[in-house]
Amino acid sequence: MKSKDIRKEFLHFFETKGHLIVDSAPIVLKDDPTLMFNNSGMAQFKEYFLGNGTPKSNRIADTQKCLRVSGKHNDLDDVGKDTYHHTMFEMLGNWSFGDYFKKEAIAWAWELLTEKYGISKDQIYVTVFEGDKGDGTSLDEEALELWKQHIAEDRILYGNKKDNFWEMGDIGPCGPCSEIHVDIRPEADRLTVDGKTLVNMDHPQVIEIWNLVFMQYQRKADGSLESLPARHIDTGMGFERLAMVLQGKSSNYDTDVFQPTIQKLEEISGVKYGAAEKTDIAIRVVVDHLRAVAFAIADGQLPSNTGAGYVIRRILRRAISYGYRFLGLKEPFIYKLYPILKAEMGDFFPELVKQETIVTGVIREEEASFLRTIEQGLNRLNQIIEQLGDSKVVPGDVIFELYDTFGFPADLSRIVAEDHGFTIDEAGFEAEMAKQKERSKKATALVTDDWVILDDKGNETSIAYDNTEAEVKITRYRKV
Ligand code: ATP
Ligand code: MG
Ligand code: MG
Ligand code: MG
Repeated sequence: MKSKDIRKEFLHFFETKGHLIVDSAPIVLKDDPTLMFNNSGMAQFKEYFLGNGTPKSNRIADTQKCLRVSGKHNDLDDVGKDTYHHTMFEMLGNWSFGDYFKKEAIAWAWELLTEKYGISKDQIYVTVFEGDKGDGTSLDEEALELWKQHIAEDRILYGNKKDNFWEMGDIGPCGPCSEIHVDIRPEADRLTVDGKTLVNMDHPQVIEIWNLVFMQYQRKADGSLESLPARHIDTGMGFERLAMVLQGKSSNYDTDVFQPTIQKLEEISGVKYGAAEKTDIAIRVVVDHLRAVAFAIADGQLPSNTGAGYVIRRILRRAISYGYRFLGLKEPFIYKLYPILKAEMGDFFPELVKQETIVTGVIREEEASFLRTIEQGLNRLNQIIEQLGDSKVVPGDVIFELYDTFGFPADLSRIVAEDHGFTIDEAGFEAEMAKQKERSKKATALVTDDWVILDDKGNETSIAYDNTEAEVKITRYRKV
């Protein structure tokens, strides 16, 4: 099943169950001081769970563009190293606002996965909450009983507060959850005892695909729980992981979500995916980060030196330096992958088509300028290393200066130093970084090198972050 059809089937299925299908909220959040980027499907509905406002329907389903690169959910360090955490991913979700509850949520998840998508029942594991949620009681019996109607009891596992109890914050709505995992381990990795397969939930191929949250309590300021008068359902399923399972692959990158851009990158770099671990990681990082940066820019978050824009700039630079270091790419290349992404995803996310000019323009210019930085930094570092002679250690303040003045990444300095048989003075570098943090706390931020969007008359403007209003097509922009 093609990924496009997998997405369509999810939305269609919940439509037949009376859900209103809505668009993804933008990936960039404008009005939420607690969150820079949308990191889950529920973010756009948060206010309804808090009892503010009324949703268009009490049953809603969608796919949400998510970015997990900052704050509580930061998966950046895993991206590229593993094959199932992305920076940007789609979260498929269905919601009930005070309408249906556990019975339907569980039955429909089961029906969709096993009947519509055809996942074998013998591959599925589910978890239910068991633990102290703050009031001593222990088991989500209701969920356990409901799951038992669908799945063998030995496939139901118990999870504690950390994994199976969801809370919006220190106070507010909360409740137990059930996660659905699919076992796609190769035969050789499966151990059986007395005819039963042992499950290792930490195995990367016993993959968590879906989280069903049952909001039924309100956490009060004193830590106690009160039952909510209106109970809600909030679910989130990783689209790329689902595609991996349904396409019979063992990595999200082997699905049709990533293969087209990987193939283009192979063509540009002359490096084959699968050739070596280091280059594979680099290829995964590039095609992953491309999506994060492209979707963020298309939603109006341009690279800059502060806040959310800085996060985007750093993600882009991370991709550039992986390409430079491991794939030998010394000229802008990421912008060349964009047409493939647009061709694959532009039908469903028209913003990729609408904002193509700015996305490719900004990515290309950012790439050119950062590659110049890399070249300059390399020259300077090579000179310094020559002068250092026998010491074999590059001082921390040198690494800091390269980073601070040129934007030359410390991990690149580390690698260049190693190539010359040098190490870097890590403690000295950390000390300089700490000093700079102190200084920047005191100084008023000096913002340079930021992108701004211009209107027809050349005045600075911004696009509405709400997709429903985002009629502005970005056609003019400049750097300040
Ligand atoms: P994990 O334990 O794998 O990090 P999670 O428990 O943090 O996932 P949830 O917050 O429960 O994830 O999000 C719901 C679903 O979104 C997950 O079951 C998973 O399928 C998907 N998901 C979460 N994080 C990522 C990511 N970084 N990349 C791709 N899919 C993700
Ligand atoms: Mg996680
Ligand atoms: Mg998890
Ligand atoms: Mg989870």
